[in-house]
Amino acid sequence: MSGKDYVEKDYYKVLGVPKDATATEIKKTYRKLAREFHPDANKGDAKAEERFKDISEAYDVLSDEKRRKEYDEARSLFANGGFRAGGGPGGTGSYSFDFGDLFSGNQGGGTGGGGIGDVFGGLFNRGGTRQAQPRRGADVETEVTLSFEEAVDGATVPLRMTSQAPCRTCNGTGARSGTTPRVCPTCVGAGTVSRGQGAFALSEPCKDCRGRGMIVDDPCTDCHGSGRASSARTMQVRIPAGVQADQRIRLKGKGAQGERGGQPGDLYVTVHVDPHPVFGRKGDNLTVTVPVAFPEAALGATIEVPTLGGPAVKLKLPPGSANGLTMRARGKGATRKDGTRGDLLVTVEVVVPQHVTGDALNALEQYREATASDDPRAALFRAAKGA
Ligand SMILES: [Zn+2]
Ligand SMILES: [Zn+2]
Repeated sequence: MSGKDYVEKDYYKVLGVPKDATATEIKKTYRKLAREFHPDANKGDAKAEERFKDISEAYDVLSDEKRRKEYDEARSLFANGGFRAGGGPGGTGSYSFDFGDLFSGNQGGGTGGGGIGDVFGGLFNRGGTRQAQPRRGADVETEVTLSFEEAVDGATVPLRMTSQAPCRTCNGTGARSGTTPRVCPTCVGAGTVSRGQGAFALSEPCKDCRGRGMIVDDPCTDCHGSGRASSARTMQVRIPAGVQADQRIRLKGKGAQGERGGQPGDLYVTVHVDPHPVFGRKGDNLTVTVPVAFPEAALGATIEVPTLGGPAVKLKLPPGSANGLTMRARGKGATRKDGTRGDLLVTVEVVVPQHVTGDALNALEQYREATASDDPRAALFRAAKGA
C-alpha cells in the first residue's frame, strides 16, 4: 500500500458506499461487485478486469479496520490542506507534512527561486505525528532610498513588499486544480533513499522526485508547480527622523504574517540616503561650507547661512577668521530621536577673486604695498628650520 493510493483514490467511491458504511455493508457491497466484475465472468473485458482490481484494492483497505482508519485520516488531512499517510513499506512508519509549514521559514528576503523542492523538501517527518503549532512569521529584509531631507526629518515611505505565500489556486500543492501530487513511489514520500546496507547504508536524495517526496504530474498553471505565489503588498512605513545613511532599522511586527495565530516577524529596512548638493551630515549635526570674501574674513562680518528646510540664519564672523574655521549654528541640525536637534556646522571658505579690475584692483595693489613687510611664510620657514 502506498501513500499515493491514499491520496489519489477514493475507495468509498470505488465500492459505491458512504464514508460511514459499516464493515458489514462494505463486505456485502464488495461481494456483489466482485461477482459482477470477476474476470471469470468477463472474459477478455479489460475494463471489467481493471474495475475488479480497483474493487479488490479498495476492499483490502476498507475491510481492515486499522488501514481504513489510516486511510480516512490521510484523506481528511489532505482535504484540509495537509497530508498524513500511515505506512511506508511495511506500514510501520508514518510521515506527515503540513502546507502551512512550507512557507513560514523563508518568506520574502529574496529567497526566490525555490520551486517545488522547497515546498516538499524536508517536510516529511518520519515517525512523527507533529501537531500544527503557531509559528512566528519570518523576518523580512528590504531597502529604501530616502532623500537627504527625508532622512533628516523622518518620512513615511511606501514599501512594496513581496513575499512568498502558498499559491491560492492549488493551495500550495503545485498540482493543477482537481489533481493532487502523488507520493513518489521510489522513496515513498521520504525524499531520500538508502543505498548500501547495514552500517554502511547511505541516505541520499531520491532521484525520481529530486528529494521532494512528491511528484506533480499535472502542474498548477498559476504557479507552474512551485506551489508558491508572490504576494505583493504596499505598506506605509515610518522611517524615524535622524536615520543615518546605511543604517538598518527594525520595524517590529512588520515582517511576514505568522502562521496559525503566531506573531508576525519583523521588518528590517536598510536606509540609503541620497547626498545633498549643499548639506552634509555628521551624526546629528549637519554641515555646510560657506564662501566668505577676504575682507569679511579679515575684518569680520555678519553673514547669512542657509539651513536645511528653514530660513537662513545670521552668523557673526569674527575679525581674522581663518579659512576652514568652523562655526556652530545651534539647533539647526538633524532631528534627534527625542525631538531635539543637532547643530549646523558652518565651515568658512575664503574666496579668492578670479578677475580683479578697476577700483578693486587699485585697492588690492595698495593693500599689497601696505603689507609688504609682512611675510606670510615667515612662520613656515621658522618651523621648517626646527626653531
Ligand atoms: Zn522520491
Ligand atoms: Zn499553484
